[in-house]
Amino acid sequence: MHFIYCPHCGTKTVERRIGDEGLIPYCESCKMPLFDMFATSVICAVINEENEIALLLQNYVSTESHVCVAGIMKPGERAEDAAAREIYEELGLSVQELRYVESYPYEKKGMLMLGFRADVRKQDFVLSGEVDAAEWVLLSDAPKMLRKGGIAWQLVRRIIRETERGNG
Ligand SMILES: [Zn+2]
Repeated sequence: MHFIYCPHCGTKTVERRIGDEGLIPYCESCKMPLFDMFATSVICAVINEENEIALLLQNYVSTESHVCVAGIMKPGERAEDAAAREIYEELGLSVQELRYVESYPYEKKGMLMLGFRADVRKQDFVLSGEVDAAEWVLLSDAPKMLRKGGIAWQLVRRIIRETERGNG
């Protein structure tokens, strides 16, 4: 989000040069620069000991492609805690081990997504109301069930490549 008006007082912003950042919207009444803002979210590849990944159907996102667990971080929350929270909320699973993989800017939604691999024990899901269905899918079969080129697809493909390197 690029600020035309100050979100604190409503004054129209002016462009001001802020060090190496270049021209940044500035509120002359609050005397502060207003850097572009974006939401940060987490996306998690939830994988069990049989090398299966939990894929979800969320009809409000798509009725055709599966998705991975994802959600927006809360202010003051650690990304690791947000990942564990979302996995518990959406699937009812506790994380055994969590590892950061890489980040994905999602420009269409003005969002930065932090990608994690979460290892869990295989068990039945306890789905939240936001999830219409979930299933365990062999990791190698997962890319074709995800939207090609999407962030979940990129995350899963990267984890598959890493797994292959680990075994080779
Ligand atoms: Zn202001």
